[in-house]
Amino acid sequence: MHPLPTTLLTLLTMPGFAQDAAVSPVAAPTNPLLRESAYPLGAVPFDKVAPEHFPSAFDAAMARQKAVVQRITMVRSAPTFENTLVPFERSGAELERIGSIFSVFASNLSDDEVRRIQSEYASKLSKHSTDILLDPALFARVRGVYEQRDAAQLDAEAKRLIEVTYDQFVRAGAALAPEQRARVAKLTQRESELQTTFGQNDLKDTDAFRLVLEEADLAGLPQGVRDGAAETARQLGMAGKFVFTLQRPNVEDFLTYSTRRDLREQLFKAFISRGANGNDFDNRALITELVALRAERAAILGYPSHAAYITADSMARTPEAAIELLERVWRPALAQATAERARLETLLAESGVDHGLEGWDWRYYAERLRQAEYDLDPAELQPYMQLDNIRAAAFYVSGRLFDLTFTERFDLPVYHPGVRVYEVAKKDGTHVGLLYQDDFARPGKRSGAWMSSLRAQSTLDGPVTAHVTNNLNLSKPPLGKPATISMTEAETLFHELGHALHGLLSQVRYPSLSGTNVPRDYVEFMAQFMEHYVLQAEVLTQFARHGETGEPMPAALRDRFIAASKFNQGFATCEFLASALVDQMYHALSGDAAVGIEPLAFEAAAMERLGALRQIPMRHRSTHFNHIFAGGYSAGYYSYLWSEVLDADGFEAFQETGDIFHPATAKRLEAHVYSRGNTVDWMEGYKAFRGKAPSVEALLKNRGLASSGS
Ligand SMILES: [Zn+2]
Repeated sequence: MHPLPTTLLTLLTMPGFAQDAAVSPVAAPTNPLLRESAYPLGAVPFDKVAPEHFPSAFDAAMARQKAVVQRITMVRSAPTFENTLVPFERSGAELERIGSIFSVFASNLSDDEVRRIQSEYASKLSKHSTDILLDPALFARVRGVYEQRDAAQLDAEAKRLIEVTYDQFVRAGAALAPEQRARVAKLTQRESELQTTFGQNDLKDTDAFRLVLEEADLAGLPQGVRDGAAETARQLGMAGKFVFTLQRPNVEDFLTYSTRRDLREQLFKAFISRGANGNDFDNRALITELVALRAERAAILGYPSHAAYITADSMARTPEAAIELLERVWRPALAQATAERARLETLLAESGVDHGLEGWDWRYYAERLRQAEYDLDPAELQPYMQLDNIRAAAFYVSGRLFDLTFTERFDLPVYHPGVRVYEVAKKDGTHVGLLYQDDFARPGKRSGAWMSSLRAQSTLDGPVTAHVTNNLNLSKPPLGKPATISMTEAETLFHELGHALHGLLSQVRYPSLSGTNVPRDYVEFMAQFMEHYVLQAEVLTQFARHGETGEPMPAALRDRFIAASKFNQGFATCEFLASALVDQMYHALSGDAAVGIEPLAFEAAAMERLGALRQIPMRHRSTHFNHIFAGGYSAGYYSYLWSEVLDADGFEAFQETGDIFHPATAKRLEAHVYSRGNTVDWMEGYKAFRGKAPSVEALLKNRGLASSGS
C-alpha cells in the first residue's frame, strides 16, 4: 500500500494545465522553469533546473494566475462556461507545471535548500490557492455558471467540470459569510504549514537513526539483505560495516530474518517511535493542533466532523460507510490474527525459548512457521526476480491489457543518473506519454513508493499527453550485479505502474478532470488491480528467470509461494486496519473533544477499544502517519481497503472469463475506468465496466478471511 504522490504542496487543488493564450509570457530568459521546453515531447529540462529557480518561478506564475482571475471577474457580460470556467481552467497551468517539477525536488532530491524553499512556498502557495477559491467576485461568476448548467448547451464533461469546480469553491468556504471565510482560509493555511513540518520531521527523525553492525552481528540475514546493508554503509562512508536504516523494507527484512533478538528489539522500537522521541523532530504537538483545526474547519463548513467533510467528496460518501467496511473486515481479521498468535506462541514454546512473543518477534517466528509449513524461503525466489525482467513483466501485462509498448529513451534529461525514461505508445504507434522510473533508495529521497504527475493529459488546447514518474525505494545491488527484488517489491512495482497507467491512458478534455484526479478511495483501485498480475503463472513463467542459469522459476516453487501468500494475513490486515480505524477516530472528533488531545494516549485508548493485539502495532503509528498528517489522506487511509473491494471484484471479472487478459473485459476497463479520469461518477464508471456493483466477497476470499466473514 503506497500513497499516491501527495505533492507536498497544496497547489494541486488548483485546476488548470493548458496555457492561457491570452497571457503573454513574462520575459525571464534565464529561468528554465519559465520557458517552453526545447526537448522532444516537451520533456522537462531537468538538466537545466536547479532549486534556486523555483522561488522566482513560483512568484511569477502566481502573479500571472492572479491577473487572469482578475480579468475573469472584470468581464461585464453574464457568466458563461466559455468566459469563466474555461479561462479559469487554463489559469493554473503554469503554476501546476512548476509545482509538479518542484515535487520531484522535494520528494526525490531533497536537501536543506529544497526544504527551505518548500517551507517558505508551501504556505505561500496554499495562501494563493485559498485567496483564489475564496475570491467573492470569482465565486459569484462560478456560481452563476453552476446555476445555469442545465439550461446551457453543454456536454456531460463540461457539466462535470462545472460541478467539480463549484464543489471545490464551496468546500474551500467560498459560500460562507466573510468572517467565517477568513477563518477557514487561516485554518487551511495553518494546516498546510503543519503538514509540511510533519513530513520534514519524519524524514529527519528517520534519518537520525542508524543501526551500524559488524559482520558478526548479521546472523540469519540472507545475502541480499547483507549486500544492501553493506552498500548503505559504503554510501555513508562506512565501508566494511553494515548499516540498517529505518526505511520500511530494510526494517522488515531485519525483523524477519535476524536471529539477534536484542537487535530486532532495538530496530523495532526505533521504527515505531519515529516522531515521538522528544527531540526537535517530535510530531506530537503538530497532531494535536491538526486534529483541532480540522474539526473546527469542518464545523464552520457545516459538517459534523472532518471525516464527514472528507468522505462527502469520496466514493464512500460518508464516514459510516467507510467504517462499516473496515469493521466488517476487522472482526474476521482479528480472529485470524489471534489464531496466528497462538500458533507462534506454540512454536516459541517448542523452541524452548524463555520469553513471550513480542512485536519484534512476530515476523521472525512467522517466517520460521512459513518455512516449516510451506517449505518456502523467499530468498529462493529472489534469484528469479531480476528487476529488469520484472519491469518487463509489468510492461508486458500493460501491453496485453491495454495494447501498450514501452521504449526506453536516452535523449531526454533526467533528474538523477539512476532514472530511466520510457516512451509509452499504443501498439498502432499512437504516442501515449512518458514514464520516468526512479527505482533505488538514496539519501534525500523520501521513503515508500509513489507515482507523481509531471504533466496531465488533456485536449482542451490540442492534444497534450501525460508525463508521469514512478518511484520505488529498492536497495541498490552491489556494483556489477543485477538488481533482484522480493515478491513484495514486485507487487509494489506493478502497483505504481497501475497509477502511472491511470495517468497515461487518460482521454479527457479538461486537465483538472484528467488521470488520477479522482477520490482516494477510487484511485487505489487502478493501482491495486495491477498487483493481481504478479503471481500469475503466465507472467512468472515468462519473466521470472534465474539470473545466472536463465531457467524459469519452477512451477512448484511458484505454487508454494501462492499457497503461502495467504499466510499471516491476519497480522497484515490488522496492522493496516488499526491505522485506518484510528485515522477515522481522530477525524470523527468534534467540538471540545477535538481540542488538546494527546496523540499517544489517544492512540493507546483506540487500540484498546478495538481489542488490538499488543504484538501488532498500527502499520503507521500516529507520530509518523504521513498519509494523514503530512499528505492528503486524512480521514482517507481506509481508501486502500475500499479500493481493494473494487480491485478484487474487478479482477474476478477477468477470472470469470477464464482469461486474465480477456480482451473485451480489458477494453471495458480502459473505456470506463482507466481513461475516464474524473469525468464520470465513480460508481457508475465501475458498474459500466463490471456490469454490477462491487461486492466484498472477493476481497475476503483473497485474504483468506472468507469463512469467518459476517
Ligand atoms: Zn497507490
